[in-house]
Amino acid sequence: MGKKDKGCAIGIDLGTTYSCVAVWNEQHRRVDIIHNEQGNPITPSFVAFTDDQRLIGVAAKNQAATNPENTVFDAKRLIGRKYSDPIIKNDMMLWPFKVIAGVDDKPMIVVKYHGKEKHLFAEEISSMVLSKMREIAEAYLESPVKNAVITVPAYFNDSQRKATIDAGTIAGLSVKRIINEPTAAAIAYGLDKRTNCKKPRNIFIFDLGGGTFDVSLLTIKGKEFKVKATAGNTHLGGEDFDNRMVIYFVEEFKRKSKLDISGNPKALRRLRTACERAKRTLSWTTCTTVEVDSLFQGIDFCSSITRSRFEELNMDMFRECIETVNRCLNDAEIEKSKVHDVVLVGGSSRIPKVQQLLQEFFNGKDLFKSINPDEAVAYGAAVQAALLSGDIKKVPNLVLSDVTPLSLGIVAKGYIMSVVIPRNTTIPVKKTRGYETGVDNQSSVLIQVYEGERAGVRDNNFLGSFRLSGFPCAPRGHPFDVWFAIDENGILTVSAEVKNTGSKNEITITNDKGRLSTQEIKRLIQEAEKFQAEDKQILRKANAMNSLDEYIYKMRKALKNDCINLKLTSAEKEKISSAITKATNLLDGGNSKPKEIEVLEDCVKELESMFKPIVGKIDLFSSFY
Ligand code: AMP
Repeated sequence: MGKKDKGCAIGIDLGTTYSCVAVWNEQHRRVDIIHNEQGNPITPSFVAFTDDQRLIGVAAKNQAATNPENTVFDAKRLIGRKYSDPIIKNDMMLWPFKVIAGVDDKPMIVVKYHGKEKHLFAEEISSMVLSKMREIAEAYLESPVKNAVITVPAYFNDSQRKATIDAGTIAGLSVKRIINEPTAAAIAYGLDKRTNCKKPRNIFIFDLGGGTFDVSLLTIKGKEFKVKATAGNTHLGGEDFDNRMVIYFVEEFKRKSKLDISGNPKALRRLRTACERAKRTLSWTTCTTVEVDSLFQGIDFCSSITRSRFEELNMDMFRECIETVNRCLNDAEIEKSKVHDVVLVGGSSRIPKVQQLLQEFFNGKDLFKSINPDEAVAYGAAVQAALLSGDIKKVPNLVLSDVTPLSLGIVAKGYIMSVVIPRNTTIPVKKTRGYETGVDNQSSVLIQVYEGERAGVRDNNFLGSFRLSGFPCAPRGHPFDVWFAIDENGILTVSAEVKNTGSKNEITITNDKGRLSTQEIKRLIQEAEKFQAEDKQILRKANAMNSLDEYIYKMRKALKNDCINLKLTSAEKEKISSAITKATNLLDGGNSKPKEIEVLEDCVKELESMFKPIVGKIDLFSSFY
């Protein structure tokens, strides 16, 4: 390949542990996975700092054991998160490099470079890895590369996606799009199997990498890919399996030598490297040795581990993977027997036990392994990059769509979640819903945005809020519209407009707390299922309270406007007044507010039967209200 490819766009799989870069080769009408200077298709996402140089990729990883405090990896786990995030706190215990809290609670990585202490953002580390991937591509293409598509886990939140775009920008790349890793893998699969895709096919993508786990159910029909549902865990992957083995051998070393290496980063790093190697070996053999010369205080470590012991150490996590697969299928409302292909992605999907459990779950179905699991994501990203930049001439346009992991909406009367975009809606998407003011002469409304599956917003996740003002002086019920827009990168913007006045306001969700982690999403979905009955009660109560409120409002107006419209007798007026007082007491009773829905519903029924004769008249004159 040569100068003719100038300006072509690349696809980068920016992985937690390894990264991979690929490009569409129009001449041969295929994707080229670009190998690094060592001839490897994947490059460690490692950056190291020494007294005289900065190293990235293989060179950084190779010296990790001798320079652990200044060798940074896992930047993807830090990107777009807060220092106080409990996930970060847990991770930090296993990192040999130091992380401190910076401005706005941003985590800062502390390294020694050229003899001086240097503080770096995770974005900077990721940008260095991206620069390396760009260099690898430029060396292969013999021309500068500017445009890229970068992949992220499906559950990356807005700030993590934005931070990844920032990392690309710092690396001098124009990030054409951020796409989800399983979606990219599906494109790779789709291209491979296109000829067989005349009828719709349900494809299950199982992506178990070094640090993240993502599953997706897609349907492919002709040119169209549709992500039906996704699930996963941003903190589950090969590194966790390595850690279990490290803990196992730390204990063994303690037993044998009476020495504890758990506080020694250098020894841990060397042991972890040996464990990772052993883990890979166990994917094709049933027993292997783990040897580290002079592990601690000059003592050599030599032991062995069987495949079954390795499986035992990690079985809970393997099972969690299968539970996640099940949840994804439930979300997609597709039975496992209706899945045509199960595609394996991510290096850890090579683990035989994982494959066995997955195959058993799918009733013995053959797993699709023809795309190299390390390369599938970069492959798909390269296709997407070529599509966006017009580099693909003859391949018909692929229509790609991702989905929202949780429902999105705003607070409605009674602290009820009013869903604007339901969970698993295909993105990009723009949806609008009409609302009305709740009180007379209301000058503004507070739009509070939430995500989650529960009926009451208190149980969902708050994303942000803004005030919409500029309402005219009018009775309650003045309309306003709320729009939710999620772009191709999964970033949410909420805007609102007052009807008739055109007064507007909007917010892009980048709040400090951010969108939810996978674990939190998982917890919310599980809670939503568990609390379905409770939610029904919440809704019932809110409906009863809203009906009461509506009645009180109408009745008050009826009394006020009686001289004009209703011609009520004084007995009728008396009846209405006392009913209003009773209902108002029920609604505004403060702490003595009735907890029982039945009391509220009975009151609504009472009002209904009492006012039936005059309600008709009121509705007739509804324009007054
Ligand atoms: P990825 O993030 O997809 O590049 O996956 C990297 C992870 O896959 C690392 O944790 C590797 O240790 C793991 N991995 C790669 N090859 C194998 C293998 N043959 N058996 C088990 N794990 C593997």
